Amino acid sequence: MDSPQTPDHGGSIMPRITAEELQARRREFLEKAGQAFDQMLGRTGSEDRATFAEREERACELGDAFTRLLMEEDLAADELADPGASVDCPFCGRPVDCESPEAVELEKRQVQTRRGPVEYERAGRHCKHCRRVFFPLR
Ligand SMILES: [Zn+2]
Repeated sequence: MDSPQTPDHGGSIMPRITAEELQARRREFLEKAGQAFDQMLGRTGSEDRATFAEREERACELGDAFTRLLMEEDLAADELADPGASVDCPFCGRPVDCESPEAVELEKRQVQTRRGPVEYERAGRHCKHCRRVFFPLR
């Protein structure tokens, strides 16, 4: 199957994550899934007198953590995480480029989801027209 071509923004855009890195992240994710399974089911019988409500609470907490992790993986893989990506200002809609994508430092940001806070990293963009800084998400 052909993968879609990354749009050309002047030659600086690389795929965010290589196929190898994607596989490595997938393995890490599955390792964490195994740990969550063990936390839920790997208890010895005598030490666990958890009620149904307590079991549900534990399962929901583990599930929420996975939802946040999936969001963080997805946001990290997004092409908008590339400082070289051209993005539109969310206030005026004009295109805004990062001034020095090779040198810029990514900033850690946090967004609230239905399952709790999720962190992501972006290079801040400054719109000269709006005089505002933003950290691209869509
Ligand atoms: Zn603007």
